[in-house]
Amino acid sequence: MPQLHLGLEARSILLVLAVLSLQMAFVLFALRRSYPHLRSLRAWAAAPLLCGIASALIGLRGMIPDAISILAANLLLLTGLWLYYAGSQQMVDLEPAPWRWSVPLAAVVALLAWFTYGRDDFEARAATMAASIAVVCARHAWLLARRLQPTLGTRLTFYTALAAIAVKLMLLCFTFGWWSGYADPAGKTLALTFYFIGSAITMPLANLGVILMVTERLRGVFEQLATHDALTGALSRRALLDACAEELERSRRRGHAMALLLLDLDHFKAVNDTYGHQTGDRVLAGFARRVRDTLRIQDRFGRYGGEEFVALLPETDLPAAQVAAERIRQRVSMPSPSLPRCTVSIGLATLQGPGDGIDAMLARADHALYRAKHSGRNRVGSL
Ligand code: GH3
Ligand code: MG
Ligand code: MG
Repeated sequence: MPQLHLGLEARSILLVLAVLSLQMAFVLFALRRSYPHLRSLRAWAAAPLLCGIASALIGLRGMIPDAISILAANLLLLTGLWLYYAGSQQMVDLEPAPWRWSVPLAAVVALLAWFTYGRDDFEARAATMAASIAVVCARHAWLLARRLQPTLGTRLTFYTALAAIAVKLMLLCFTFGWWSGYADPAGKTLALTFYFIGSAITMPLANLGVILMVTERLRGVFEQLATHDALTGALSRRALLDACAEELERSRRRGHAMALLLLDLDHFKAVNDTYGHQTGDRVLAGFARRVRDTLRIQDRFGRYGGEEFVALLPETDLPAAQVAAERIRQRVSMPSPSLPRCTVSIGLATLQGPGDGIDAMLARADHALYRAKHSGRNRVGSL
Protein backbone atom coordinates (compact mmCIF):
# COMPACT_ATOMS: atom_id res chain seq x y z
CA MET A 1 0.00 0.00 0.00
CA PRO A 2 1.49 3.42 -0.91
CA GLN A 3 2.60 5.54 2.01
CA LEU A 4 0.53 8.72 2.49
CA HIS A 5 2.95 11.68 2.54
CA LEU A 6 1.87 14.67 4.62
CA GLY A 7 4.32 17.57 4.23
CA LEU A 8 3.96 21.29 4.71
CA GLU A 9 4.51 23.16 1.54
CA ALA A 10 4.75 26.95 1.16
CA ARG A 11 2.56 27.08 -1.95
CA SER A 12 -0.32 25.29 -0.20
CA ILE A 13 -0.01 27.54 2.86
CA LEU A 14 -0.14 30.65 0.66
CA LEU A 15 -3.15 29.46 -1.29
CA VAL A 16 -5.07 28.54 1.91
CA LEU A 17 -4.11 31.94 3.32
CA ALA A 18 -5.45 33.58 0.15
CA VAL A 19 -8.80 31.80 0.50
CA LEU A 20 -9.06 32.77 4.20
CA SER A 21 -8.25 36.41 3.46
CA LEU A 22 -10.73 36.62 0.60
CA GLN A 23 -13.43 35.13 2.85
CA MET A 24 -12.66 37.75 5.48
CA ALA A 25 -12.75 40.51 2.86
CA PHE A 26 -16.20 39.25 1.83
CA VAL A 27 -17.42 39.41 5.46
CA LEU A 28 -15.99 42.92 5.94
CA PHE A 29 -17.48 44.20 2.66
CA ALA A 30 -20.86 42.78 3.74
CA LEU A 31 -20.48 44.59 7.10
CA ARG A 32 -19.62 47.77 5.24
CA ARG A 33 -22.90 47.57 3.33
CA SER A 34 -24.79 47.31 6.63
CA TYR A 35 -22.86 50.09 8.38
CA PRO A 36 -21.78 52.54 5.67
CA HIS A 37 -21.18 55.34 8.22
CA LEU A 38 -18.29 53.39 9.80
CA ARG A 39 -15.48 54.85 7.68
CA SER A 40 -12.75 52.39 8.65
CA LEU A 41 -14.66 49.48 7.13
CA ARG A 42 -13.77 50.40 3.55
CA ALA A 43 -10.02 50.25 4.21
CA TRP A 44 -10.36 47.20 6.47
CA ALA A 45 -12.40 45.30 3.86
CA ALA A 46 -9.99 46.20 1.04
CA ALA A 47 -6.98 45.18 3.19
CA PRO A 48 -7.61 41.38 3.30
CA LEU A 49 -8.80 41.51 -0.32
CA LEU A 50 -5.42 42.87 -1.48
CA CYS A 51 -3.45 40.64 0.91
CA GLY A 52 -5.48 37.62 -0.23
CA ILE A 53 -4.82 38.31 -3.92
CA ALA A 54 -1.13 38.92 -3.07
CA SER A 55 -0.90 35.53 -1.27
CA ALA A 56 -2.46 33.78 -4.26
CA LEU A 57 -0.06 35.47 -6.69
CA ILE A 58 3.00 34.68 -4.53
CA GLY A 59 1.70 31.12 -4.26
CA LEU A 60 1.62 30.87 -8.06
CA ARG A 61 5.31 31.79 -8.34
CA GLY A 62 6.91 29.96 -11.23
CA MET A 63 3.57 29.41 -12.94
CA ILE A 64 2.95 33.07 -13.81
CA PRO A 65 5.39 35.83 -14.89
CA ASP A 66 7.71 37.20 -12.17
CA ALA A 67 6.39 40.71 -12.78
CA ILE A 68 3.07 39.49 -11.36
CA SER A 69 4.16 36.92 -8.77
CA ILE A 70 6.92 39.15 -7.35
CA LEU A 71 6.38 42.83 -8.18
CA ALA A 72 2.58 43.12 -8.42
CA ALA A 73 2.06 40.64 -5.56
CA ASN A 74 4.36 42.45 -3.12
CA LEU A 75 2.95 45.83 -4.13
CA LEU A 76 -0.54 44.51 -3.35
CA LEU A 77 0.67 42.98 -0.07
CA LEU A 78 2.24 46.23 1.20
CA THR A 79 -0.76 48.29 0.06
CA GLY A 80 -3.06 45.82 1.86
CA LEU A 81 -1.03 46.06 5.08
CA TRP A 82 -1.05 49.86 4.79
CA LEU A 83 -4.87 49.72 4.44
CA TYR A 84 -5.13 47.93 7.83
CA TYR A 85 -3.20 50.88 9.26
CA ALA A 86 -5.29 53.46 7.35
CA GLY A 87 -8.50 51.90 8.74
CA SER A 88 -7.14 52.23 12.29
CA GLN A 89 -6.23 55.85 11.54
CA GLN A 90 -9.84 56.52 10.54
CA MET A 91 -11.00 54.95 13.81
CA VAL A 92 -9.31 57.83 15.63
CA ASP A 93 -10.42 60.42 13.06
CA LEU A 94 -6.99 60.79 11.47
CA GLU A 95 -6.86 61.28 7.72
CA PRO A 96 -4.77 58.55 6.03
CA ALA A 97 -2.02 60.04 3.85
CA PRO A 98 -1.57 57.63 0.89
CA TRP A 99 0.84 60.00 -0.88
CA ARG A 100 3.23 59.98 2.03
CA TRP A 101 3.46 56.18 1.76
CA SER A 102 3.53 56.00 -2.02
CA VAL A 103 7.14 57.23 -2.30
CA PRO A 104 8.69 54.55 -0.03
CA LEU A 105 6.35 52.00 -1.63
CA ALA A 106 7.64 52.90 -5.11
CA ALA A 107 11.21 52.65 -3.77
CA VAL A 108 10.53 49.15 -2.40
CA VAL A 109 9.03 48.01 -5.73
CA ALA A 110 12.05 49.46 -7.57
CA LEU A 111 14.39 47.54 -5.23
CA LEU A 112 12.41 44.34 -5.80
CA ALA A 113 12.59 44.91 -9.56
CA TRP A 114 16.37 45.33 -9.31
CA PHE A 115 16.71 42.16 -7.20
CA THR A 116 14.60 40.30 -9.81
CA TYR A 117 15.77 41.56 -13.18
CA GLY A 118 19.09 43.28 -12.36
CA ARG A 119 20.40 40.54 -10.12
CA ASP A 120 18.13 37.61 -9.32
CA ASP A 121 18.53 37.44 -5.53
CA PHE A 122 15.79 35.75 -3.52
CA GLU A 123 17.41 36.58 -0.13
CA ALA A 124 17.62 40.29 -0.97
CA ARG A 125 13.99 40.34 -2.06
CA ALA A 126 12.88 38.52 1.09
CA ALA A 127 14.92 40.89 3.27
CA THR A 128 13.49 43.95 1.48
CA MET A 129 9.93 42.73 1.98
CA ALA A 130 10.47 41.61 5.58
CA ALA A 131 11.91 45.02 6.51
CA SER A 132 9.12 46.90 4.69
CA ILE A 133 6.36 44.85 6.31
CA ALA A 134 7.98 45.27 9.72
CA VAL A 135 7.98 49.06 9.24
CA VAL A 136 4.25 49.19 8.32
CA CYS A 137 3.36 46.87 11.23
CA ALA A 138 5.48 48.92 13.65
CA ARG A 139 3.74 52.13 12.57
CA HIS A 140 0.36 50.42 13.05
CA ALA A 141 1.30 49.01 16.47
CA TRP A 142 2.49 52.45 17.57
CA LEU A 143 -0.84 54.01 16.56
CA LEU A 144 -2.84 51.28 18.32
CA ALA A 145 -0.84 51.65 21.52
CA ARG A 146 -0.94 55.45 21.53
CA ARG A 147 -4.36 56.43 20.23
CA LEU A 148 -6.87 53.61 20.57
CA GLN A 149 -8.75 52.53 23.70
CA PRO A 150 -7.28 49.27 25.06
CA THR A 151 -10.11 46.90 24.12
CA LEU A 152 -9.92 43.22 23.20
CA GLY A 153 -9.91 44.14 19.48
CA THR A 154 -7.18 46.77 19.66
CA ARG A 155 -5.05 44.56 21.94
CA LEU A 156 -5.38 41.57 19.60
CA THR A 157 -4.46 43.72 16.58
CA PHE A 158 -1.54 45.27 18.50
CA TYR A 159 -0.06 41.93 19.59
CA THR A 160 -0.64 40.50 16.11
CA ALA A 161 1.31 43.42 14.61
CA LEU A 162 4.14 42.70 17.11
CA ALA A 163 4.07 38.99 16.22
CA ALA A 164 4.19 39.87 12.51
CA ILE A 165 7.23 42.09 13.17
CA ALA A 166 8.91 39.24 15.08
CA VAL A 167 8.32 36.82 12.19
CA LYS A 168 9.76 39.31 9.67
CA LEU A 169 12.79 40.03 11.87
CA MET A 170 13.37 36.29 12.17
CA LEU A 171 13.48 35.97 8.38
CA LEU A 172 15.77 39.00 8.16
CA CYS A 173 18.18 37.32 10.62
CA PHE A 174 18.17 34.13 8.55
CA THR A 175 18.75 35.87 5.24
CA PHE A 176 21.62 37.88 6.70
CA GLY A 177 23.23 34.59 7.63
CA TRP A 178 22.78 34.75 11.40
CA TRP A 179 21.77 31.11 11.42
CA SER A 180 24.30 28.80 9.80
CA GLY A 181 21.62 26.18 9.09
CA TYR A 182 20.07 28.54 6.53
CA ALA A 183 22.97 27.88 4.15
CA ASP A 184 21.76 24.31 3.77
CA PRO A 185 18.77 23.78 1.34
CA ALA A 186 16.86 21.80 3.99
CA GLY A 187 17.50 24.52 6.58
CA LYS A 188 16.35 27.17 4.15
CA THR A 189 13.13 25.25 3.41
CA LEU A 190 12.54 24.89 7.15
CA ALA A 191 13.11 28.63 7.76
CA LEU A 192 10.74 29.59 4.95
CA THR A 193 8.11 27.12 6.17
CA PHE A 194 8.26 28.75 9.62
CA TYR A 195 8.01 32.13 7.95
CA PHE A 196 4.92 31.20 5.97
CA ILE A 197 3.32 29.48 8.96
CA GLY A 198 4.00 32.65 10.97
CA SER A 199 2.26 34.70 8.28
CA ALA A 200 -0.57 32.19 8.12
CA ILE A 201 -1.14 32.70 11.86
CA THR A 202 -0.82 36.49 11.93
CA MET A 203 -2.99 37.29 8.89
CA PRO A 204 -6.24 35.67 10.19
CA LEU A 205 -5.52 37.14 13.66
CA ALA A 206 -5.23 40.62 12.14
CA ASN A 207 -8.60 40.09 10.42
CA LEU A 208 -10.13 38.88 13.69
CA GLY A 209 -8.68 41.95 15.41
CA VAL A 210 -10.30 44.38 12.97
CA ILE A 211 -13.64 42.53 13.12
CA LEU A 212 -13.53 42.86 16.92
CA MET A 213 -12.66 46.56 16.62
CA VAL A 214 -15.64 47.02 14.28
CA THR A 215 -18.07 45.30 16.66
CA GLU A 216 -16.67 47.24 19.63
CA ARG A 217 -17.15 50.51 17.75
CA LEU A 218 -20.68 49.51 16.73
CA ARG A 219 -21.53 48.61 20.32
CA GLY A 220 -20.30 52.08 21.35
CA VAL A 221 -22.47 53.73 18.66
CA PHE A 222 -25.56 51.75 19.72
CA GLU A 223 -24.91 52.47 23.40
CA GLN A 224 -24.63 56.17 22.61
CA LEU A 225 -27.90 56.04 20.64
CA ALA A 226 -29.67 54.19 23.46
CA THR A 227 -28.49 56.44 26.26
CA HIS A 228 -28.33 59.89 24.63
CA ASP A 229 -30.84 62.28 23.15
CA ALA A 230 -30.14 62.74 19.43
CA LEU A 231 -30.96 66.47 19.29
CA THR A 232 -29.07 67.77 22.32
CA GLY A 233 -26.54 65.01 23.08
CA ALA A 234 -27.80 65.03 26.68
CA LEU A 235 -28.49 61.73 28.47
CA SER A 236 -31.89 60.20 27.70
CA ARG A 237 -34.47 60.28 30.50
CA ARG A 238 -33.90 56.56 31.24
CA ALA A 239 -30.09 56.91 31.38
CA LEU A 240 -30.41 60.06 33.48
CA LEU A 241 -32.66 58.40 36.05
CA ASP A 242 -30.31 55.37 36.17
CA ALA A 243 -27.39 57.74 36.81
CA CYS A 244 -29.39 59.50 39.55
CA ALA A 245 -30.25 56.18 41.25
CA GLU A 246 -26.59 55.09 41.13
CA GLU A 247 -25.37 58.39 42.53
CA LEU A 248 -28.00 58.31 45.29
CA GLU A 249 -26.71 54.90 46.41
CA ARG A 250 -23.11 56.15 46.42
CA SER A 251 -24.03 59.33 48.33
CA ARG A 252 -25.94 57.31 50.94
CA ARG A 253 -23.08 54.83 51.38
CA ARG A 254 -20.42 57.49 51.77
CA GLY A 255 -22.56 60.14 53.46
CA HIS A 256 -21.89 62.64 50.67
CA ALA A 257 -24.09 65.57 49.66
CA MET A 258 -25.78 65.50 46.23
CA ALA A 259 -27.83 68.04 44.27
CA LEU A 260 -30.33 67.96 41.41
CA LEU A 261 -31.11 70.95 39.19
CA LEU A 262 -34.30 70.99 37.17
CA LEU A 263 -33.87 73.38 34.23
CA ASP A 264 -36.73 74.70 32.10
CA LEU A 265 -36.31 77.20 29.26
CA ASP A 266 -38.35 80.36 29.69
CA HIS A 267 -41.14 81.09 27.22
CA PHE A 268 -39.79 78.48 24.87
CA LYS A 269 -43.13 78.10 23.16
CA ALA A 270 -42.76 81.74 22.06
CA VAL A 271 -39.34 80.90 20.48
CA ASN A 272 -41.00 78.18 18.42
CA ASP A 273 -43.93 80.40 17.53
CA THR A 274 -41.74 83.35 16.51
CA TYR A 275 -38.77 81.68 14.80
CA GLY A 276 -40.12 78.24 13.87
CA HIS A 277 -39.59 74.77 15.27
CA GLN A 278 -36.23 74.24 13.54
CA THR A 279 -34.74 77.33 15.16
CA GLY A 280 -36.30 76.10 18.42
CA ASP A 281 -34.37 72.86 17.97
CA ARG A 282 -31.13 74.77 17.42
CA VAL A 283 -31.81 76.83 20.54
CA LEU A 284 -32.30 73.61 22.52
CA ALA A 285 -29.05 72.13 21.18
CA GLY A 286 -27.17 75.39 21.90
CA PHE A 287 -28.64 75.53 25.40
CA ALA A 288 -27.50 71.97 26.12
CA ARG A 289 -23.99 72.76 24.84
CA ARG A 290 -23.72 75.79 27.12
CA VAL A 291 -24.90 73.85 30.16
CA ARG A 292 -22.46 71.03 29.48
CA ASP A 293 -19.61 73.53 29.10
CA THR A 294 -20.49 74.95 32.51
CA LEU A 295 -20.72 71.62 34.36
CA ARG A 296 -17.84 69.69 35.91
CA ILE A 297 -16.64 66.44 34.41
CA GLN A 298 -18.32 64.33 37.11
CA ASP A 299 -21.71 66.05 36.70
CA ARG A 300 -24.37 64.41 34.53
CA PHE A 301 -26.83 66.21 32.31
CA GLY A 302 -29.99 64.71 30.80
CA ARG A 303 -33.14 65.62 28.93
CA TYR A 304 -36.03 65.06 31.30
CA GLY A 305 -38.67 65.79 28.62
CA GLY A 306 -39.45 68.49 26.02
CA GLU A 307 -37.49 71.60 27.07
CA GLU A 308 -36.91 70.41 30.63
CA PHE A 309 -33.48 69.11 31.62
CA VAL A 310 -31.88 67.78 34.80
CA ALA A 311 -28.32 68.28 35.99
CA LEU A 312 -27.05 65.80 38.58
CA LEU A 313 -24.28 67.23 40.74
CA PRO A 314 -22.49 64.60 42.86
CA GLU A 315 -20.82 65.61 46.15
CA THR A 316 -22.42 69.06 46.00
CA ASP A 317 -24.13 70.75 48.96
CA LEU A 318 -26.68 73.57 48.83
CA PRO A 319 -24.31 76.59 48.63
CA ALA A 320 -22.15 74.90 45.94
CA ALA A 321 -25.27 73.87 43.98
CA GLN A 322 -26.55 77.46 44.13
CA VAL A 323 -23.24 78.70 42.70
CA ALA A 324 -23.36 76.07 39.92
CA ALA A 325 -27.00 76.86 39.08
CA GLU A 326 -26.30 80.59 39.00
CA ARG A 327 -23.34 80.02 36.69
CA ILE A 328 -25.55 78.03 34.32
CA ARG A 329 -28.28 80.70 34.42
CA GLN A 330 -25.81 83.45 33.55
CA ARG A 331 -24.11 81.44 30.80
CA VAL A 332 -27.46 80.57 29.15
CA SER A 333 -28.70 84.17 29.26
CA MET A 334 -25.62 85.49 27.43
CA PRO A 335 -26.59 86.60 23.91
CA SER A 336 -25.49 84.38 21.02
CA PRO A 337 -24.62 85.82 17.58
CA SER A 338 -26.53 83.14 15.69
CA LEU A 339 -29.51 82.22 17.90
CA PRO A 340 -32.43 84.04 19.50
CA ARG A 341 -31.75 84.90 23.12
CA CYS A 342 -33.29 82.59 25.68
CA THR A 343 -33.16 82.29 29.43
CA VAL A 344 -33.60 79.43 31.87
CA SER A 345 -35.31 78.99 35.23
CA ILE A 346 -33.77 76.46 37.58
CA GLY A 347 -35.25 74.54 40.49
CA LEU A 348 -32.74 73.15 42.94
CA ALA A 349 -32.97 70.28 45.43
CA THR A 350 -30.30 68.68 47.63
CA LEU A 351 -30.29 65.28 49.30
CA GLN A 352 -32.00 65.46 52.70
CA GLY A 353 -30.92 62.56 54.90
CA PRO A 354 -30.89 58.80 54.26
CA GLY A 355 -34.68 58.52 53.78
CA ASP A 356 -34.68 60.86 50.77
CA GLY A 357 -35.09 59.54 47.21
CA ILE A 358 -34.81 60.69 43.59
CA ASP A 359 -38.58 61.07 43.10
CA ALA A 360 -38.84 63.21 46.24
CA MET A 361 -35.84 65.31 45.18
CA LEU A 362 -37.29 65.84 41.70
CA ALA A 363 -40.65 66.83 43.22
CA ARG A 364 -38.89 69.43 45.41
CA ALA A 365 -36.85 70.69 42.43
CA ASP A 366 -40.10 70.97 40.44
CA HIS A 367 -41.66 72.97 43.26
CA ALA A 368 -38.62 75.26 43.42
CA LEU A 369 -38.75 75.67 39.63
CA TYR A 370 -42.40 76.67 39.87
CA ARG A 371 -41.42 79.35 42.37
CA ALA A 372 -38.60 80.59 40.12
CA LYS A 373 -41.05 80.84 37.21
CA HIS A 374 -43.60 82.70 39.28
CA SER A 375 -41.15 85.16 40.71
CA GLY A 376 -40.21 86.39 37.23
CA ARG A 377 -38.24 83.58 35.43
CA ASN A 378 -34.51 83.67 34.55
CA ARG A 379 -33.65 82.82 38.14
CA VAL A 380 -32.68 79.97 40.48
CA GLY A 381 -35.24 78.75 42.99
CA SER A 382 -34.77 76.53 46.02
CA LEU A 383 -37.09 75.60 48.86
P1 GH3 B 1 -42.35 78.62 30.60
O1 GH3 B 1 -41.44 79.80 30.72
O2 GH3 B 1 -43.49 78.69 31.52
O3 GH3 B 1 -41.60 77.36 30.73
O4 GH3 B 1 -42.94 78.73 29.15
P2 GH3 B 1 -42.70 77.72 27.95
O5 GH3 B 1 -43.28 78.35 26.72
O6 GH3 B 1 -41.29 77.35 27.89
O7 GH3 B 1 -43.49 76.46 28.46
P3 GH3 B 1 -44.39 75.39 27.78
O8 GH3 B 1 -44.26 74.15 28.61
O9 GH3 B 1 -45.80 75.94 27.60
O10 GH3 B 1 -43.81 75.13 26.35
C1 GH3 B 1 -42.77 74.29 26.12
C2 GH3 B 1 -42.56 74.24 24.61
O11 GH3 B 1 -41.43 73.51 24.29
C3 GH3 B 1 -43.73 73.59 23.92
C4 GH3 B 1 -43.10 72.58 23.00
O12 GH3 B 1 -43.58 72.65 21.69
C5 GH3 B 1 -41.65 72.99 23.02
N1 GH3 B 1 -40.78 71.84 22.80
C6 GH3 B 1 -40.68 70.71 23.51
N2 GH3 B 1 -39.75 69.89 22.96
C7 GH3 B 1 -39.27 70.50 21.87
C8 GH3 B 1 -38.31 70.17 20.88
O13 GH3 B 1 -37.69 69.08 20.87
N3 GH3 B 1 -38.05 71.07 19.88
C9 GH3 B 1 -38.71 72.26 19.84
N4 GH3 B 1 -38.42 73.10 18.85
N5 GH3 B 1 -39.64 72.60 20.75
C10 GH3 B 1 -39.92 71.74 21.75
MG1 MG C 1 -40.34 76.31 29.52
MG1 MG D 1 -41.62 73.08 30.36
